[in-house]
Amino acid sequence: MSSSYKSITRQIAQSIRLIMTDIDGTLSEGGDSVISPVADAIVKLERKGILVGLVSGRTGPMLQKMAVQLNITGPLIAENGAIARINPSAPLLELGYSKLPANEALAKLYAAYPGRVSERWDNSERMVDIVFRAEGVPIEELRRLLPYVQVLDSHYIMHIMQKGINKGKTLLNILPLVANGAIVKDQVMVAGDSATDLSLFEIFPVSVLIRNRRIPPEESPMLKKVARYISDNEQGYGFAEVALHILGLLE
Ligand SMILES: [Mg+2]
Repeated sequence: MSSSYKSITRQIAQSIRLIMTDIDGTLSEGGDSVISPVADAIVKLERKGILVGLVSGRTGPMLQKMAVQLNITGPLIAENGAIARINPSAPLLELGYSKLPANEALAKLYAAYPGRVSERWDNSERMVDIVFRAEGVPIEELRRLLPYVQVLDSHYIMHIMQKGINKGKTLLNILPLVANGAIVKDQVMVAGDSATDLSLFEIFPVSVLIRNRRIPPEESPMLKKVARYISDNEQGYGFAEVALHILGLLE
């Protein structure tokens, strides 16, 4: 059960070498920029020698753009764990995932719900995960129709992709490559706001749930059960207060 971020101790703060954060609902409200308290806190964290990386459902190019904006040096994990780089200028790692299952599922959706399915512009630059909306179709129905892929709702957009891919597993897999293997699981802090971040909360012990009123009430108990800490404020303001708390403990 998550407790207040204020219960992150000095000892824990001093152990953190890498912060991996979700973007939508965690750093931002979903747009292309972050509020200045978030940008400022990230600069300070990096100055303290804590790598900051992004782990998001967004595309690789979108993450690279944000990494430049934020001036961060940590890993980038895009498309909900399907693609990754060990730092913003490193080449893509070969994780062995395919877009075929998602493409097949999308074709099936178009056939099942004529006129109700729309794709988002960025599908053309997506390598594994597909984003879409299916007007008025409950997620349970989509999951029944498409049992051979994952159907995820980030509450910003719906995702379909090959089964077995998630943010937490990918971060765990690439961690030995980050900073020449100097960082272990317990030295990573993860931050997120929705069910797409559950795998991060499950695998990494220093996990922070950032509050976001867009997340439906039925999803919150599950998130609070798994995440170790929780912010008071929402979205970017929540991330910034947690970051400042950690920075305060490192003074
Ligand atoms: Mg999110």
